[in-house]
Amino acid sequence: MTIKIPPSEIVIRPPVEAYSVLVPVTGGCSWNKCEFCGTYKGMYGIIQDYAIRPLKDVLSDIDSFAEKNYHGYPVFLAGGNPTSAPTDYLVKIIKYVRIHLKNVPRISCYAKALDILRKSDEELKKLSDAGLDIVYMGLESGSSIILRLMKKGTNAASMIEAGHKILNAGIDLSLYILLGLGGKKYSQEHVKETARVLTEINPTIFRFRTLNILPGTPLWEKWKTEEFKLLSPLECLKEERDIIANLGENVTSEVYNDHISNYCSLESANIQEDREKFIATLNSYINDPRIQSLPRKNLTRM
Ligand code: SF4
Repeated sequence: MTIKIPPSEIVIRPPVEAYSVLVPVTGGCSWNKCEFCGTYKGMYGIIQDYAIRPLKDVLSDIDSFAEKNYHGYPVFLAGGNPTSAPTDYLVKIIKYVRIHLKNVPRISCYAKALDILRKSDEELKKLSDAGLDIVYMGLESGSSIILRLMKKGTNAASMIEAGHKILNAGIDLSLYILLGLGGKKYSQEHVKETARVLTEINPTIFRFRTLNILPGTPLWEKWKTEEFKLLSPLECLKEERDIIANLGENVTSEVYNDHISNYCSLESANIQEDREKFIATLNSYINDPRIQSLPRKNLTRM
């Protein structure tokens, strides 16, 4: 049974924001069509329609966090893609956080490339000046073929443009890469194009996640009919190694494997400096007989 929940209820947040003050700004996802994603489509037994919360409700939540002395914590503006909301609305919220919560080390939110492209450079600068420090954006793959198959609603060129716009505005950018998203058929394409797009953008951070097909997602049906073939843990680790190996020399991003879906937890504060070590460690996993026969994680929730 699925129940519908209001936009004031938070469904997901990045693991890195686990100890942050979570301020619901939007509910659901303004796109909600990605084949692999069931976050707002009933995957957790809940459905949440897209909505922008009334400004007074958001400010009232911030007031109550201030009354409870939630000072000194990072603040995550929650919802699938708050950057879909009008810029002036977001600026008011960010400024309100900065005034009413003291010593906030970071304000962040999820962002979707299409929403970023709809904003002018001046609007993004306003968000940066108000105090938005970092956005988390799903690149998923640098391949336009895979992005189209997965109905991501963007292509490689628009991802690159959105990435540049964010960084040029002075906002840090954390991108998600979904290992295995091309399945067996497009694995090579996924590696080559993802490395190319990361090289073009040189994001502040990129984070690996591993595709785990969950009931309730459109991709689940394609997997059941074998139209889409999942990679093994070993193949996912090889994809990660090959993406890192194909990065341009200019890429200085931080890199993390900070998700339950991953088969390693490697990280780097600067992949330009750590590239060889990173690849050598991945190779040591890849050559380990225990990894070679490791079954896939069977996650029913993430
Ligand atoms: S992956 Fe992101 S953009 Fe795509 S449907 Fe899910 S929440 Fe929306």
